[in-house]
Amino acid sequence: MSSPKFRVAIVGGGVGGVTLAVALSKYPDIAVDVYERASQFAEVGAGVGLWPRPFKVLKKLGLGDALLKKTPVPYIEDEYVTAMNFRRSDLEEGEYLYTMKSKGNMIQVHRADFLSVLVDNISPSVKTHMSKRIVSYTQPSSGNPSEPITLTFYDGSTATCDILVGADGVKSAIRRGMMQDLSRDPAALEKCSAEEYLACIEPVFSGTVSYRTLIQADKIRAVDPNHRALDGVWCPLQCLGENRSVGTYPISMGKTVNFSSMALDKELMANAFNPDPSHRQTFDGEWVRHASAKEFTEVFRGMEKDVQTLLDCIEEGNIWAVNLVRHLPVQVHGRVALLGDAAHSMTPYQGSGAGQAVEDAYVLATLLGHPGTTLATVPRALAVYDEVRRPFAIGIADASQEVGRISGLQMDLPSSEIGPKIAEITSWAWETEIDGMLEDAKRMLEERV
Ligand SMILES: Cc1cc2nc3c(=O)[nH]c(=O)nc-3n(C[C@H](O)[C@H](O)[C@H](O)COP(=O)(O)OP(=O)(O)OC[C@H]3O[C@@H](n4cnc5c(N)ncnc54)[C@H](O)[C@@H]3O)c2cc1C
Repeated sequence: MSSPKFRVAIVGGGVGGVTLAVALSKYPDIAVDVYERASQFAEVGAGVGLWPRPFKVLKKLGLGDALLKKTPVPYIEDEYVTAMNFRRSDLEEGEYLYTMKSKGNMIQVHRADFLSVLVDNISPSVKTHMSKRIVSYTQPSSGNPSEPITLTFYDGSTATCDILVGADGVKSAIRRGMMQDLSRDPAALEKCSAEEYLACIEPVFSGTVSYRTLIQADKIRAVDPNHRALDGVWCPLQCLGENRSVGTYPISMGKTVNFSSMALDKELMANAFNPDPSHRQTFDGEWVRHASAKEFTEVFRGMEKDVQTLLDCIEEGNIWAVNLVRHLPVQVHGRVALLGDAAHSMTPYQGSGAGQAVEDAYVLATLLGHPGTTLATVPRALAVYDEVRRPFAIGIADASQEVGRISGLQMDLPSSEIGPKIAEITSWAWETEIDGMLEDAKRMLEERV
């Protein structure tokens, strides 16, 4: 490469960080380093669903065919198809509620497959650094773009870059540094108080605990060949009950059924995004831990027969306390930006945290790759990224909480309205595309540089 126009450091090699590395791979004049805490790129053993909107972004990145090879479901782009079957399941005899249709189907893959497709498409010019846990960074206060940002790692080493992107998940070290810097920056203090920035550092407990495991499809088939989770249309099943819900869909070419279920606390869910800086609800205990089959059974017992059959097939799994990032007042500062869960971790009820990370990455890469973005104009490009992406992703995080409350039957809705209401809230995922947002972002950038 001839001398790059700037050097981007991506901290975090999850879905968001690696998608950004792939998207930036298209711009040969940008040098990219990825720093990942773990010794290798890895994802949890579970499924992930991608709605048409983020899937179309992945197609634009040239990853569509490779991802579709990981699922037996053909991708239908322009027709309305069954997206999800909802049942009321905390009754002895379950009750059919609603079949949600989406324009184009959700693509469901094993997380490890998703990440490996992304990693396989990182350009060889991108340098990846494993076992590199960042602890802090320093951005020169002079604002002089020729002075680099310094990264400090847990092992005592340091590195420099021109642009720093924190894709380091819900506990983000980069968010911590950014909020601390903002709380001391006179210009930023015109927008929010120091307390408001500092309150965004620590995650808050969402009120949802997720029980996740994978079940061999053959094991379910041996007990009940007609089990709804094995449905021939490969459609996700959502079994709703008071303060709990069980969701399933097949992954790994149908060999495995992803079991992702939620137990909710009504009060905590309602208060998770409370903007009062003095309010912070926490989860006491390990956020992610191994769980026995008995623990699954204890929480989801008493649900209809299909759920009971799944519980009987579970051998072990994990329990995740889902933590959120408060609505950030800003997710960029100077030449530093946040992306994905580091900026807007959300509950899984919209199946969209990874999708929103993908969208962030695509918009950010497009703005950084734009010819108008130079080292001197980077802060303006990042400000545009913040303006277009942050409100959208926060809206999805809010929508996810609302769908969680509806799924946990907390909203006092008649049975006939539950499914249609969830469909109405979720329809952005297939009725809208990223193109409009991208055009707005490019226009805003061109006006400002
Ligand atoms: C139960 C459940 C189900 C879900 N289902 C879906 C779904 O169906 N569809 C969907 O779109 N989303 C779903 N999500 C959300 C999705 O998993 C996340 O939004 C997504 O993984 C976020 O990706 P990320 O890259 O931003 O963060 P992460 O995946 O958390 O990646 C962060 C990376 O940064 C690294 N890192 C952390 N700290 C440091 C550091 N200090 N230095 C260097 N590296 C660091 C980590 O090791 C990790 O590799 C679900 C979430 C849950 C909990």
